[in-house]
Amino acid sequence: METNNHKKVVTRFAPSPTGFVHVGGIRTALFAWLWARKYNGTFILRIEDTDKEREVEGSIEHIIESLKWLGLDWDEGPDIGGKHAPYIQSQRLDSYKKYAQTLIDKNLAYADPYTEKEIEEFRAKADLEKRPFLYREHRPENPPVWDGSMPLRLKIQEVKTSEWNDLVRGKLTAGPEALDDFILIKSDGYPTYNFAHIIDDLEMGVTHIMRADEFISSTPKFLALYEALGVERPEMATLPPIMAPGGKKKLGKRDGAKDVLDYRNEGILPEAMINFLALLGWNPGDDREVMTESQLLEAFDVTKIQHSGAQFNEEKLAWINGEYIKKMSYEDQEAYLLKFIPNDIKSLPHFTNDMLHKITPVIIERISSGLDIEMMAVNGDLDYYFKYPKLSKDILKKEQKDNITTNENIKIVIENLSKITVDNWTKEKIKEALWEYATSVGRGSVLWPMRYALSGCQKSPDPFILAELFGKEGTILRLNSALEILEDKNNE
Ligand code: GLU
Repeated sequence: METNNHKKVVTRFAPSPTGFVHVGGIRTALFAWLWARKYNGTFILRIEDTDKEREVEGSIEHIIESLKWLGLDWDEGPDIGGKHAPYIQSQRLDSYKKYAQTLIDKNLAYADPYTEKEIEEFRAKADLEKRPFLYREHRPENPPVWDGSMPLRLKIQEVKTSEWNDLVRGKLTAGPEALDDFILIKSDGYPTYNFAHIIDDLEMGVTHIMRADEFISSTPKFLALYEALGVERPEMATLPPIMAPGGKKKLGKRDGAKDVLDYRNEGILPEAMINFLALLGWNPGDDREVMTESQLLEAFDVTKIQHSGAQFNEEKLAWINGEYIKKMSYEDQEAYLLKFIPNDIKSLPHFTNDMLHKITPVIIERISSGLDIEMMAVNGDLDYYFKYPKLSKDILKKEQKDNITTNENIKIVIENLSKITVDNWTKEKIKEALWEYATSVGRGSVLWPMRYALSGCQKSPDPFILAELFGKEGTILRLNSALEILEDKNNE
């Protein structure tokens, strides 16, 4: 798509420091970032902290850490400055005052003289008459001089139907009731979001705004303000909501929208997260699902963003993550594993670098995140690599057939395996040495006790993989321990 009249693209992410950023917020940041990077534009980080009551300490640092983790870099922002500094709204109060004064001078803004009680009365009267409460119907004839102690309101010039184009949704309209004299500056001296973001976008030269659909209902007010200021407005792209699993409700903090940094702790890779988020409400127009950053940049198109809600699906995130883990180098996979293997497993007797090295591909094959590794540890699916398992005679004999005992089968397994040289000790050769015999007497009766003898677990990788991992000596040792248990009269 052609961009806005060949103007340099400037986008921004403008979070409020009200706690952690969840996936929805980050998806907004990602789309704005993709848009700027695709067109060699500028991406700005701006902190919208005008609602002091909702502010949560430490949020700004947390937001910055989240964006950095994902590699969403900005060209101007609170930590690095830039030609439009400062990038924190509470430090830009003079700028809002300046524009407020311009509007007052043009008779387009006025001080609101009413007390809260008076406004309540207006509202109650409108309710009684079953009409919407509109402040503009109570506009004071001779408003006081604005001294900062009263709210400042925009005087809506023309009460009309608003019409505008949204890059995602096309033509949008709203009736005159959407327009009312709204507050520009509150009595605490801070601007409202409605006012501050428009001034900042203007001063910072923002050309494209990407934001959530909750802002559509306020857009007529924004348009009235652009008009009052006599400025061209940026293009607007409204992103589809992200729906909680199940599809009916928007994903909110209460419906499982987690802090993105929680995903980092669970071993989600930043590139997998980016890939996943990019596909929340957009797709490349073909069936690609695993896409690198450069493929995303190449294919991304704001006009192809969908209107309807995007389904949030953690299983898909895990699947994408698994794909990225499989693509990592062997060293990185090993380091990844090491990071998530709990300490009690690391202190087991046979926990060696050599063993870790050997099991890496086996484990990587079976997981899609660090959580899965932790889960394997909890379920006892990791420790048998690093210690001899505790066996139960009954379980060993679980698949025993009438024609031959488990003891005899294990003895034959040991015998056949002993013939393989150490150099030839591979899962293929191990399988070759046992397959024919196992098939002749019933595979379960041979391979089950062998696998269980090696792992001590009812579920594990197949016995040939395990035998290769434990080496010839380790394998035969474990099989002999199983024999001892089977022959132990005390263990009936
Ligand atoms: N500060 C707003 C928020 O956090 C940003 C909205 C916008 O991007 O204009 O929701």
